Amino acid sequence: MALIVQKFGGTSVGGLDRVRHVAKIITETYNQGNDVVVVLSAQGKYTDELIARALEYNPKASKRELDQLMSTGEQQSVALAAMCIQGMGYPVVSLNAWQVGFKTNTTYGDARITRIDTERLQLELDQHKIVLFTGFQGINRRGDVTTLGRGGSDTSAVALAAALHADLCQIYTDVDGVYTSDPNKVKGTHKLEEITYDEMLELATVGAGVLHNRSVEMAKRYHVNLEVLSSFTGKPGTKVKEVVKKMEKSHVSGVAKDKNIARLALVGLKNEPGIAFHIFSLLAQKKINVDIILQSIGRDEQKDISFTVTKSDLEQARQILEDRKDTLGFERLEINDHVAKVSIVGAGMIGNPGVAANMFEALFNAGININMISTSEIKVSVLVDERDADRAVQAVHDKFFTEYGR
Ligand code: ASP
Ligand code: MG
Repeated sequence: MALIVQKFGGTSVGGLDRVRHVAKIITETYNQGNDVVVVLSAQGKYTDELIARALEYNPKASKRELDQLMSTGEQQSVALAAMCIQGMGYPVVSLNAWQVGFKTNTTYGDARITRIDTERLQLELDQHKIVLFTGFQGINRRGDVTTLGRGGSDTSAVALAAALHADLCQIYTDVDGVYTSDPNKVKGTHKLEEITYDEMLELATVGAGVLHNRSVEMAKRYHVNLEVLSSFTGKPGTKVKEVVKKMEKSHVSGVAKDKNIARLALVGLKNEPGIAFHIFSLLAQKKINVDIILQSIGRDEQKDISFTVTKSDLEQARQILEDRKDTLGFERLEINDHVAKVSIVGAGMIGNPGVAANMFEALFNAGININMISTSEIKVSVLVDERDADRAVQAVHDKFFTEYGR
């Protein structure tokens, strides 16, 4: 007997038939003798619909009121699912954030979890009830409802699993696991049986986006056994854990692409100490995240520094730098927002030289020019022209998963 937290996303509970199906998965798990805590998202696209309605009533509605409204989606979900499970003759109770004591800070719309009371949950489990809990929402010290940010139900589930010391946290979604790349766009992808937390985090931040990022960070921090699987197929999914056995010969677990990126180049900077410090502390003060950084070798009195930011930070970054043109002393600022980042991720890269070279070879053979490169222990990213991005992903994926793959 184990304690299992299961989370079902919007599509998985998108209507009566879907909820009936999910109820079957839940009750089967319960019938196997497990304690089951279930976290649900709002049905289908209901959260989007609520936001659209809010905008009709007031396009400038406060985040507090938005949370008040958005959280109702999850509340309906758990109540309806509980009714369905009741109808099947099982003991079940639905609980919201207030009833459980799922506490967050006061950042409406993007709240962080501060503490979870487990007494009520435990009480219900002790009475052998299936517990359904509202994902996405929390309660702050003012007693107000908060939400954890879009897609936050994954994080609710992992947080509950951590607080309850659950044996397993299963995230049921509409894809049947984590793939070597986006299966809808890239040919020849396959599902990964296992992936490390670190790889999963890198894949999420480079655009694979199966799980809410914070849920993976939390799973890593609290050693929560995670599994991503489909509520549609009933097939085994992808396990996310600390260390994985490598089944494939390839040292790479995935290839991802991020088009939400822009490059800035400061050309003709003075070649003297403190310049990089000055530039990047200005950006950091404004909370602008800088990703790939490249500095040229100084020539004579001058050097160039280029770096990337997300597209949404581009305008602010440009402004900050233009405003300081004289103090920073650069000749010109060049901007290119038609770029994309293509990354390979794999814990198996550590101690295996040549992985990066293989990636570059694949790009060379495809005639794709690399603008910038950055590497970490488990990732190699290159910046390419946006037009080349899809071709680049396919070429790199072919290289690692067709030539060397199983
Ligand atoms: N219902 C929320 C959303 O659509 C939370 C979630 O689905 O994870 O963002
Ligand atoms: Mg989601």
